[in-house]
Amino acid sequence: MRVVVLGAGVVGVTTAYALASRGCDVTVMERRSELAGEASFANGGQLSYDFASPTGSPGVLRHLADYLLGKDEAFKIGLSFDPAFLNWGARFLVNCTPGPARQNAEALARLAQRSDGAFKRVIRQAGVQFAHRKAGKLVLFNSEDDFKRAATRAEQAYKKGRALRPLDTSACLALEPALNCWRGSAIAGGLYAPNDDVGDARTFALSLGAAARDQFGVDFLLNTSVRAILARNNQVYGVAADDGDVAADAVVVCMGVNAPRLLRPLGVAAPVQPIRGYSITAPAAEGAPSIAITDLARKMVYSRIGENLRVAGFADAGAQRTDVAQRRTDLLLRRATEAFPGAADFSNVSSRWVGVRPSTPNSLPIVGETKVNRLFLNIGHGMFGWTLSAVCAEKIANDVILGERDSLLDRKAA
Ligand SMILES: Cc1cc2nc3c(=O)[nH]c(=O)nc-3n(C[C@H](O)[C@H](O)[C@H](O)COP(=O)(O)OP(=O)(O)OC[C@H]3O[C@@H](n4cnc5c(N)ncnc54)[C@H](O)[C@@H]3O)c2cc1C
Repeated sequence: MRVVVLGAGVVGVTTAYALASRGCDVTVMERRSELAGEASFANGGQLSYDFASPTGSPGVLRHLADYLLGKDEAFKIGLSFDPAFLNWGARFLVNCTPGPARQNAEALARLAQRSDGAFKRVIRQAGVQFAHRKAGKLVLFNSEDDFKRAATRAEQAYKKGRALRPLDTSACLALEPALNCWRGSAIAGGLYAPNDDVGDARTFALSLGAAARDQFGVDFLLNTSVRAILARNNQVYGVAADDGDVAADAVVVCMGVNAPRLLRPLGVAAPVQPIRGYSITAPAAEGAPSIAITDLARKMVYSRIGENLRVAGFADAGAQRTDVAQRRTDLLLRRATEAFPGAADFSNVSSRWVGVRPSTPNSLPIVGETKVNRLFLNIGHGMFGWTLSAVCAEKIANDVILGERDSLLDRKAA
């Protein structure tokens, strides 16, 4: 079976590997000159199997005015009159109400947890190298009330098999000594996820892409911009690119935030909007944490990846000013320098990056066949796209080959 995968971010590459390792003849089309050049380039580096939570929550409704008025430095919503954004925004707000938010949190947690096994399988089979480390993750809370609520939920999750433990402030400091030099938000307590990993997502994609080519002959067509998906009689038969058409028995769309534009002419709705985030990378110093740290209040993460410290964070939806990248990475750098002064050589930042998280209203990816036969989507992985990539790749490969259905992922992006 000839399958064309559109997009070579971490989701597209993982999908291509899963399909090829199950016997498909796979071609990947990517408009950039390299793999993982967009949302997967310099992300937070966390594989969050036991702590993944949706963007939409009742807390967002409480602070909505701050986000809209630019009063919250970590989360901003720029007013946009684009109908697709307004429609997405209305659905996002529904998903912030308690019932849907709880359901989404449970579904996302289950999916992330399943990705642990899927990652182990792909790492073992492909032999990928990506500065991978079982670092564990500590999520810090600055409010007593939030921590108490999260601790209760973590105790329940622990009983269901998730490796997630609440720690009081002194236990956090004992677990990660680097936090004794922490000057960031107050630490009311933390959730510790010992199984979570860190690594470099771009290196993962490059290494997995090389394995896909070498082990299974996957063909990567780089510098190839896809113009249209070709279908007749409600059946996909190929893809049109700038330099010609490519025939296909099945097409899997993994184009992140660009997917909706290409799907629209086929009448396939894909509620995916960009939520921008930023990162800086600097040489790690003696005071760098070994455990991956998430500062929930500031929406920032710190991950030691190889010799470097990656600091990533913030969430900006809707319209933004054109100088956003410079201003937001300046702020990220300032906050990191204040919070963790000895963690890195912040005077020697090697990379500043802005990326767009392909986000659905309910924070769950859209993975499965569309109403057009043999046209599949693997998009909308949002804040945890790298974490979810392995389990979603296995699911879509089984769908393409066997027509399997997976109830966990068949929820609509409401
Ligand atoms: C600041 C930040 C921190 C993050 N931290 C983490 C983290 O710690 N852990 C985690 O799990 N996730 C994290 N994420 C999320 C994760 O990085 C994304 O969800 C993931 O990279 C999305 O991958 P993707 O392959 O769907 O999209 P992309 O990587 O954007 O890939 C889509 C590809 O499609 C290509 N494409 C688009 N249009 C066309 C076209 N017309 N023709 C050909 N090719 C096309 C693009 O060039 C691109 O290469 C973070 C994201 C950000 C922004």
